[in-house]
Amino acid sequence: MAGKTKVALVGIGKIALDQHVPAIAASADWELAATVSRKGSVSGVPAFTDFAAFLAERSDIPVVSLCMPPVPRFDYAKAALLAGRHVILEKPPGATLAEVHELQAIASQSGLSLFATWHSRMAHAVAPAKAWLRGATVKQAHITWREDVRKWHPGQDWVFEPGGMGVFDPGINALSILTEILPQPVHLTKARLEFPENRQTPIAAQLTFSGNVTADFDWRQEGPQTWDIAVSTDKGELALRMGGNVLEINGEATAGENSIMGEYPSLYARMAELVRVRASDVDLSPMVHVADALTLGSRITTAAFHF
Ligand code: NAP
Repeated sequence: MAGKTKVALVGIGKIALDQHVPAIAASADWELAATVSRKGSVSGVPAFTDFAAFLAERSDIPVVSLCMPPVPRFDYAKAALLAGRHVILEKPPGATLAEVHELQAIASQSGLSLFATWHSRMAHAVAPAKAWLRGATVKQAHITWREDVRKWHPGQDWVFEPGGMGVFDPGINALSILTEILPQPVHLTKARLEFPENRQTPIAAQLTFSGNVTADFDWRQEGPQTWDIAVSTDKGELALRMGGNVLEINGEATAGENSIMGEYPSLYARMAELVRVRASDVDLSPMVHVADALTLGSRITTAAFHF
């Protein structure tokens, strides 16, 4: 890209401030030219509270990055595409698969770039893990994704509302890595979902897939947090730790870096390339597994959850 391209951030909350703002500030490709948020803003950046007014007044900004929760995101994404803007979607890319298919069709018909981001796929050790697994026979794989919802989503009731996906909000990150690195696709065959008695979405899930692949997602883990994927193959044992940032082969660290801070800069670099060549990148396979788990899973009622 020649010079910096203007981008607007929409939905200024936890992830926008933690990751998007610093990634844009450090990038040679992007300039944060506006924010759109009902309450949030970024110091020194022109702020809008109404998205329609932003679209009408700032035709000089060709790209919008949507950082709000999944349920309200579709209306913003559709309006942006219809107004001729390229769109970056936070993960998960929508509340339903069909709404993302609709966005894909609009982007394609309009020659616009739509990027359904999976930040965990940009973790330092995911590409080396994928390369190591190429051509290997996977005998077994297990995901352990256990974190503390109070730490990562403080007071965010939307995660427990319909469409918030509950523990699949982080679990889909593990599935985005799994679907990226496995040499053969798998499909869900069984799921056990634990719903707090006062909530609409699961707080824990145990999943079984074809190919001897299993997953354990839990949002009640205090203390050390665990984001691991272990894969047994005919070549040996692979382990991805720290959310895909560290790769171990047969117990020895061989690639990566114990930091999540490379993920969002890589997403924005990828979007710069997509806009340059007018392409889209929308892979819904992680979300298909979540939809299948919510379709096929058995429901267990567990203790009420309060932030
Ligand atoms: P958040 O802080 O609760 O929400 C972000 C902002 O979205 C809010 O501050 C709010 O800004 C706006 N918003 C909320 N509800 C809205 C609605 N109904 N209509 C329009 N705008 C609304 O959430 P977050 O943690 O940043 O997560 C947002 C997305 O990023 C989710 O899809 C999540 O999976 C993903 N993500 C989160 C994390 C994390 O660690 N939290 C990590 C990676 C990815 P205003 O009130 O100012 O409009």
